[in-house]
Amino acid sequence: MRAIMYHYVREFDPARPHFRFLNIANFRRQLDLFAQEGGFVTRAEWDDFLAHGRMPDIPGKVILTFDDAMSCHYTHVFPELAARGLWGLFYVSTQPYATGRMLDVHRIHLLCGTVEGTELYARTRALVSEDMIPHARRAAFRQETYTSQTNRPGVTEVKRLLNYFIDENCRSQVIDTLGRDFGVAFDCNSFYVTPDQLREMAAAGMAIGAHTVSHPVMSKLDPAQQQREIGDCFACLDAICGSGTRSYAHPYGGFHSFDAATLKALRDNGVAFAFNVEPRDICAADRDKAQLFLPRHDCNLFPHGAAD
Ligand SMILES: [Zn+2]
Repeated sequence: MRAIMYHYVREFDPARPHFRFLNIANFRRQLDLFAQEGGFVTRAEWDDFLAHGRMPDIPGKVILTFDDAMSCHYTHVFPELAARGLWGLFYVSTQPYATGRMLDVHRIHLLCGTVEGTELYARTRALVSEDMIPHARRAAFRQETYTSQTNRPGVTEVKRLLNYFIDENCRSQVIDTLGRDFGVAFDCNSFYVTPDQLREMAAAGMAIGAHTVSHPVMSKLDPAQQQREIGDCFACLDAICGSGTRSYAHPYGGFHSFDAATLKALRDNGVAFAFNVEPRDICAADRDKAQLFLPRHDCNLFPHGAAD
């Protein structure tokens, strides 16, 4: 059986000509293909796997997961799954519900989706001075920024500068300025699934799981911070949807993105299973060996899964 990870699933929006997303038409084609090949893991089969390590009778069955609770998960994905009688697992970062502010990782997506890459990079580069780069990353920053540019720098360099190089304490302010300069509004309510919509999805049989409060690279945080990211996220989700089987998806994913303290925090919070990003199928042994970092494929590894 295999778990598939999705992010944005929607239609083209002329206001965001550079936005990367899976077109809903391709999502439907991919679901059609999965349905033909082996179908989908039912909730009963999944519970059976968790409780006893039993695998579904048909080997290629698919379980669908959706990260970051973007509004299209309610407007596009949820109706599509409901029409097909399917269920999905939706992983939610809760800071936007507590603060009314979008997460920086998503504000960067909006900037890159709206503004042409070269122009965005030039403005970002002008705003980020070297003293905003921590000493440990400064040599690499200089090398990448001043020497090794062969073609016109664009979206990749913007993301690397804002996600990786810049000091976390400077990031939000730079993004605020870029939003003002390019007229990009960061509207929390239209960007994410709302609490009422999450409740509706849960009531209709969708599973809602935790994806931390603020979507950090957890392995960069100390154990107490990690406990807060996970514990506070579940507290918020419990208040919205009520409590049930607890599950979690590691932000960003990959074995570098979490550590032993993350796994301890998951156990302390009674998490039954969690998804990593690792391109292999789930096998019976994972129930005992990898229950808190189950492998999950990106949808773009399968036909029709490439971003527009
Ligand atoms: Zn995420």
